[in-house]
Amino acid sequence: MTIAFIGLGNMGGPMAANLVKAGHDVHGFDLDEAALERAAASGVRAARSAADAAGDADLVITMLPTGRHVLDCYADIAPTTRADTLFADCSTIDVADARAAARSVADAGHRALDAPVSGGVMGATAATLTFMVGAADADFAAAEPVLSAMGRRVVHCGGPGAGQAAKICNNMILGASMIAVSEAFVLGERLGLPHQALFDVASAASGQCWALTVNCPVPGPVPGSPAGNGYRPGFAGALMAKDLGLAANAVRAHGVAAEIGLRAAEIYAAFAEGDGAGQDFSAVINSIRERS
Ligand code: NAD
Repeated sequence: MTIAFIGLGNMGGPMAANLVKAGHDVHGFDLDEAALERAAASGVRAARSAADAAGDADLVITMLPTGRHVLDCYADIAPTTRADTLFADCSTIDVADARAAARSVADAGHRALDAPVSGGVMGATAATLTFMVGAADADFAAAEPVLSAMGRRVVHCGGPGAGQAAKICNNMILGASMIAVSEAFVLGERLGLPHQALFDVASAASGQCWALTVNCPVPGPVPGSPAGNGYRPGFAGALMAKDLGLAANAVRAHGVAAEIGLRAAEIYAAFAEGDGAGQDFSAVINSIRERS
């Protein structure tokens, strides 16, 4: 397949490289010359512009920072792209922006789906990402084999926007549960409860969750969790703050009484403004300890 890949940064670079490995003809573009050169070294054909990359593509994939970038990029390239091209946005953006982006390409005579990912840079490199897809059935069927070359799981969540909805709902659970686990460890410390004892009980009881048993925020109980490695990400605090901000936008837009989700967004925003942006999101435990 001829594929345009726009946005060749930390995630897009290795994702595009995996499409080349799978035998696709990948035309890439990034505003950053260094990112474009790295992608070219992995077999991506470097284009002079996004429109140049997309001109003859069967599928246009975007992996950009925000909804604004995606909307601007689509406005730029949709008028000159071959009719009925499929656009797949893998960036993490607002549900409302994803739906607006899909409408804008449909108005220009194309088809669109959203396919945000989880799995981080390691998953992008190892082609083990999970894709959460919002698409019409036929568009999902067309994109699924291509997405499978970059990931291990491709889940069809519903129509356009449903992939972004699944992503922010999952990360709202994750952000809130990491804060809850961290608060419990700090309370346990104050009560004289060893970390390992709390872990042994909660991991085998009703407090069990991914934030505890895989990404445990204290060093020791889970060898390999970022806490044992100076809180190197993993999943960076800045990205959790971004995703919870998107969740908070949707919570407010739909009038949901998600008080814990909104508070989690505030806690991670403050964490990322401090020194948490580049640390794993489980380091939020240190900010809870400092404020205790
Ligand atoms: P990044 O900043 O490394 O890459 C984004 C790239 O887009 C940059 O290279 C930038 O130069 C390029 N870009 C910006 N505007 C452009 C334009 N108009 N045309 C062409 N290129 C343009 O970011 P990333 O970590 O790769 O993340 C990309 C998306 O994936 C974000 O939406 C992020 O939230 C999401 N995401 C990231 C991770 C992660 O672990 N990094 C995990 C899941 C989802």
